[in-house]
Amino acid sequence: MQSPHPDVTDFVQPAPPDLRKPESCPALVLNADFRPLSYYPLSLWSWQDTVKAVFLDRVNIVSHYDTVVHSPSTDFVLPSVVSLKTYVKPPRYPAFTRFNVFLRDGFSCQYCGEPQDLTFDHVIPRRAGGRTTWENVVAACSPCNLRKGGRMPKQAKMTPRQKPIQPTVYQLHENGRRFPPNYCHDSWQDYLYWDTELEP
Ligand SMILES: [Zn+2]
Repeated sequence: MQSPHPDVTDFVQPAPPDLRKPESCPALVLNADFRPLSYYPLSLWSWQDTVKAVFLDRVNIVSHYDTVVHSPSTDFVLPSVVSLKTYVKPPRYPAFTRFNVFLRDGFSCQYCGEPQDLTFDHVIPRRAGGRTTWENVVAACSPCNLRKGGRMPKQAKMTPRQKPIQPTVYQLHENGRRFPPNYCHDSWQDYLYWDTELEP
């Protein structure tokens, strides 16, 4: 939260819905344009980080829980949705990480479509000069990875379903929306799916 560019690693996991406990009350963090900073993982701050950001005047409170935390001097109603006062320009391209490769590929094997037992496959094998890049690494289940071995796609007759490319952050956000969190507070819904709801 200290960083001007909130990192997804700062985000907490959606909590089980025991809303009497402050620990179960993370706030959905929206950018200044009222879109979530991240869909997957969902941009959530712990109640402590949220309260800090409110007192540092970095966020507007958009919606509340009914949960109140007490300190000796004051009571504080926990925010359920906050928006940043200053717009954070998202980077155009995401980091090349294992998670983001899986997210680009929809958490499914690029050869058979299975979501289980995912690993990474070098489309052009490393020993044939294939590099570890967005354009040459795809999600593959263990059986497909084994079956392909160190062969070229043509030799193995195994071609990725989608041509691996470097995605934009926007594309990853769109993919992330296909994976709604297990738990979603009512007040978050408007900000998570607002543009899909406008479709006929
Ligand atoms: Zn597979």
